[in-house]
Amino acid sequence: MPKIIVNETICKGCELCIGACPKKIIVIDKNTINIKGYHPAKLSDESECIGCSMCAMMCPDIAITVER
Ligand code: SF4
Ligand code: SF4
Repeated sequence: MPKIIVNETICKGCELCIGACPKKIIVIDKNTINIKGYHPAKLSDESECIGCSMCAMMCPDIAITVER
């Protein structure tokens, strides 16, 4: 089953991946603050991910890895 892994240290919480995801399953994790002071993105529903990589292609910081 595909899923994404967000590198929380690199992510700057810009939300571009959220807009890019056709399944709308990426959210900002308000309970986590990374070393740069940002709330990183996370997957809200792993079972819905189709592994399309739109989020990874959109991320300006290459913080998302897609596992298929
Ligand atoms: S791989 Fe596709 S479906 Fe999965 S989180 Fe990224 S944009 Fe959404
Ligand atoms: S596009 Fe990249 S840097 Fe921006 S919130 Fe998503 S994972 Fe983080």
